Amino acid sequence: MTENMNSDRFILIHYHEIGLKGKNRGRFERRLMTNINRALKGLPRGNVRRLSGRMMLALTSDSPTEMICERLATVFGIANFSEAIGVDREIEAIRETAWALAQKADFASFKIVTKRGDKTFPLNSEQINRDVGRHIQTLSGARVQMDAPDLTCFIEIAPQRIFVYAEKIPAPGGLPVGSSERAVSLISSGIDSPVASYKLMKRGVTLTYVHFHSQPYTNRNSQRNTEDLVRLLNRHQFASDLYLVPFVEIQRSIMTHAPASYRVILYRRAMLRIAEAIAKKVDAKALVTGENVGQVASQTLSNLRAIEDVTTLPILRPLAGDNKEEIIREARRIGTYDISIEPYEDCCSVFVPKHPETHANLEKVRAIESELDLAPLIKQTLTQTERKTFKL
Ligand code: ATP
Ligand code: MG
Repeated sequence: MTENMNSDRFILIHYHEIGLKGKNRGRFERRLMTNINRALKGLPRGNVRRLSGRMMLALTSDSPTEMICERLATVFGIANFSEAIGVDREIEAIRETAWALAQKADFASFKIVTKRGDKTFPLNSEQINRDVGRHIQTLSGARVQMDAPDLTCFIEIAPQRIFVYAEKIPAPGGLPVGSSERAVSLISSGIDSPVASYKLMKRGVTLTYVHFHSQPYTNRNSQRNTEDLVRLLNRHQFASDLYLVPFVEIQRSIMTHAPASYRVILYRRAMLRIAEAIAKKVDAKALVTGENVGQVASQTLSNLRAIEDVTTLPILRPLAGDNKEEIIREARRIGTYDISIEPYEDCCSVFVPKHPETHANLEKVRAIESELDLAPLIKQTLTQTERKTFKL
């Protein structure tokens, strides 16, 4: 690793939200730094340093810049980042570097935006803007334009170094994974639950995944697709556990003993009981589902209530109010959509009734369930549950 300050190629990393965390700020920044290092594992580069409200990654001559940028764009907590040139503390050097960057762009209008974090620099931001602006204007013939110019050249005056860059690459923002405790995410191989998982990770939550399958009644596709989804989502978390729960015995028992219209609600209640047991084991503080109000019969408010009756953990449903096309757009953007639409037989689609209850009565649900004696089956299912670990 090279010493940062001697290098002149950097990635400057900006974050918004963790800057607002008051006395927790140091903890959030350390977590973000750890996550950046994990995301960049194996790639040649200098180290990451904190630098008053931002982070700086020194690049080395063998750094694969494109790949580094690709990986940084997946790290929650980063708002945006830029490839920046480090220059000496002289206005001539700033001018020359700004012009060198500008020459790479095709532009008819531009502006200079200077942030002076180091007030000891002899020129103030306005003076730097004017000086560098004039230089570029003279050499390029382009006009200065404040509102939506073709090119924006950013200059940041930090105590240690001055950075010049022309492009901000957007990143997902949010909070670094690991800063908001753990939740258990119920993940199917469908479209919704991977998006729900992504949204909670973006809020800093560490996830443990649980998937219910009906083998040998269904083929292995749902399990394989789910594993592919977890592998993809693990880009953001670096290490994830997936619990694979054999659900057939419980389904069989519910199918044989409960009225058809209540089956789905009873399956879901059993799923939540198992998820809660796993949550207890891994010290998770909440459950996550991809449920969405009104999308399918089990997702009326009455039914959601009848389902969540079995757990005292908060159930986070980040998609509750989204429209299907919004969820699909998000799934496409985060890369889960193509895996989710691969053909599979869901554990529940195989065993769903034609006319499910849409307004379940909670007392009735409890009464039906109490006839079933599911507790021993749930216990047995937990012992047959397999855990798979995914590492980046
Ligand atoms: P998804 O697109 O996530 O499959 P969905 O629209 O198919 O959701 P449901 O089948 O009612 O809706 O499932 C609601 C939620 O219950 C899912 O988002 C997921 O969190 C959980 N869930 C459903 N099936 C499974 C499963 N086989 N394993 C784990 N969780 C599941
Ligand atoms: Mg589904």
